[in-house]
Amino acid sequence: KPKQQQGAKTAQVDTKGITVKKDDDLAEWYQQMLSKGSFISYYDVSGCYILEPASYSIWQTIQTWFDSKIKTLGVRNCYYPLFISQDNLQKEKDHIEGFAAEVAWVTLGGTTKLEKPIAIRPTSETAMYKDFHDKIQSHRDLPLKRNQWNNVVRWEFRNPMPFIRSREFLWQEGHTAHLTEESAGEEVLQILDFYAGVYEYLLAVPVIKGRKTVNEQFPGAYYTTTIEGFIPSTGRGIQAATSHCLGQHFAKMYDITVEDPAPRKEGEAGTKPRLHVWQNSWGLTTRSIGVAMLVHGDDKGAVIPPRVAEVQAVLVPVGITAKTSEEDKKAHYDKMTSMAASLVEAGVRAETDNREHYNAGWKFNEYELRGVPLRIEFGPKDAAAGVVTTVRRDNGAKTTVPIADLAKGIPELLETMQNEMFDKAKKEYEAHRVQLTDWSKVVSTLNGKNVLIIPHCLDGQCADDVKDETAALAKKEAGNSPEDKKAPSMGAKALCIPFEQPDLPAGTKCLRPSCGKDAQKWVQFGRSY
Ligand code: AMP
Repeated sequence: KPKQQQGAKTAQVDTKGITVKKDDDLAEWYQQMLSKGSFISYYDVSGCYILEPASYSIWQTIQTWFDSKIKTLGVRNCYYPLFISQDNLQKEKDHIEGFAAEVAWVTLGGTTKLEKPIAIRPTSETAMYKDFHDKIQSHRDLPLKRNQWNNVVRWEFRNPMPFIRSREFLWQEGHTAHLTEESAGEEVLQILDFYAGVYEYLLAVPVIKGRKTVNEQFPGAYYTTTIEGFIPSTGRGIQAATSHCLGQHFAKMYDITVEDPAPRKEGEAGTKPRLHVWQNSWGLTTRSIGVAMLVHGDDKGAVIPPRVAEVQAVLVPVGITAKTSEEDKKAHYDKMTSMAASLVEAGVRAETDNREHYNAGWKFNEYELRGVPLRIEFGPKDAAAGVVTTVRRDNGAKTTVPIADLAKGIPELLETMQNEMFDKAKKEYEAHRVQLTDWSKVVSTLNGKNVLIIPHCLDGQCADDVKDETAALAKKEAGNSPEDKKAPSMGAKALCIPFEQPDLPAGTKCLRPSCGKDAQKWVQFGRSY
């Protein structure tokens, strides 16, 4: 039986703790952090996970925030069915080519073979646009702005990783139709800004905004904009969210047209020409939670940014011993209850933990594992001095806050922590985005856990060649230093063409020596998830 509360010094060995260091074995650390911290539980279908309240609540916070943002653009939520008919799914050629390998099909209803298999949506363009054809009759029906919060299934064969790459995931998918390219293009960027907000403002994770190279864009898109994140422990990039302009491709396939609203020219008669609408689609998934976990977590467990933490501050009694009288104990706990109430009133998601069968040290470990941003310790000495002792989860910094100032002091501390977590992650990303003009340094720079900013010709084949050639070079170099087993086999992929471009002097060549063409842009390349 665990001892009564005796303070941190006598904490028993925490059998629940993480047994590997983040830097030593990231994959194992990640799994232990998520399951021991009660963020996920495992499930008996590969690539599918149970999202526990601690992580689902993060998703709900993201939902609430993002939903309020898209409402300001006039987007309305709706729901389309999970199933897509085979004929419909296959309508847009590029789109189905891009998704064919990952679509899960229903072929049986009980024991009866279906006449035609039915697809489970990997994304809903094809489910929705047949209906958009019916809904959009006139330019007055535009813009049509729809969004759904749902799940999709992509039967990925690469190693699944909770949140980061799962076979079923939760997301929102926005689908809009516009009269003009300009109106569609404007929205693509507004959404990208909101996505950056989800990562930077809520999750304290810095991202780089840019456009995908042609080979990496969404199947069937006109162009794809993206926010790219970075996982410092592996030096790999990760596609954080994407906002696509689909152009008129789908409108042509699904015959979504409106009569040209421009006034007739003098003498013009007959039927007016019909215009194909311009469409966008945009999606952000539960991957965002995984990215934040990977970026912020440490050897003790998760570190949850205050803005999304289910519990932001936990009050833990300390210095209560077997000798403390029942009366004193009750008075102490009552004080804590009223402090918690005043914090809740001040908008802090606060809880108290008066469990008597766990000592304080045990509780400290548990809240560290769970990543609760702020621990508020309260003992008889604190009570006598009229203060609480606060301990920040991200850096362990200890301070005291007068009880009278809690309603102001704790929100301020949480805000500071949120900002400092972001600043730290941003510095780290910046330090690992290396601008390179020397091909011979590409592999060593990648091995140094960096992503690269290189001058590139933007040719799709050349981008593929960069990936193959850097993989081959890395393999060769790994032969010389066998300690780094995993990363070097991976080549550098074109992650994005950052909107923010360093100066590119005229005549700069594409960095890949055998290319020889002029560089068009600085492109972010890197190993990636
Ligand atoms: P897409 O519709 O392909 O543009 O995907 C939208 C976003 O989903 C991407 O930008 C990724 O961040 C994310 N994503 C893609 N595949 C997965 C997956 N298997 N699990 C979780 N998130 C994913």
